[in-house]
Amino acid sequence: MSVNQWNTDALCIGAHPDDVEIGMGATVAKMVRQGARVAIVDLTNGEPTPHGSPEIRATESAEAARILGVTRRTLSGRNRYLLDSVEARTELAEVIRELRPRVLFIPYADDAHPDHVAASSIALAARFYSKFTKTEMAGTPVFPERVYRYMAVHQRIVAEPSFIVDVSEDLDTKLKAIGAYESQFSANPANTTVIELMRQTALMWGGLGRVAAGEPFFALEPISVNSALDLL
Ligand SMILES: [Zn+2]
Repeated sequence: MSVNQWNTDALCIGAHPDDVEIGMGATVAKMVRQGARVAIVDLTNGEPTPHGSPEIRATESAEAARILGVTRRTLSGRNRYLLDSVEARTELAEVIRELRPRVLFIPYADDAHPDHVAASSIALAARFYSKFTKTEMAGTPVFPERVYRYMAVHQRIVAEPSFIVDVSEDLDTKLKAIGAYESQFSANPANTTVIELMRQTALMWGGLGRVAAGEPFFALEPISVNSALDLL
């Protein structure tokens, strides 16, 4: 198998089920609508939470994946206490070696939630681990060509994105996918305004991008394009 055989176009990595939906759910829906093969990996099952359970969260995350049109799997990390470790890196790297994504989307690194910080670190390390030879890891070496960060943070910060994806036609699908997590939002009195906040946030980013709705992304390396007109 060639190192450049991509079996997945984009792999989106989150600490918890709902992170990817919140940060880039509309971009995921748009990529799928455009024919891309997209997968989500959650490093933990996201539980315990005040109104959820492992069974409820699994049902909700499966429904959200169905709405978005992606495959999804949940790894063995411990919610609330996720740590960057050789074991966590290896578990994710084996998934990367199996799915062989061309692009990785990973959490924003600066966050108040330590699981999100750890997930960002694990994801970057796993990308590197995934190209190891002479290893006991399953699968064959692969190195995703691009890595971008999406933003689903608990920290109230203003960050300058590298680019904004126009998600004007896919925002409704994102909000529907987030709505699948009833235990986290509609059934949690502390979070009933989150979905409306997600809508307003998308409109704000869209305003900055001169489109109706947008999602921001943050590049780790310079972005190259085929033509300057691709930027239109
Ligand atoms: Zn999270």
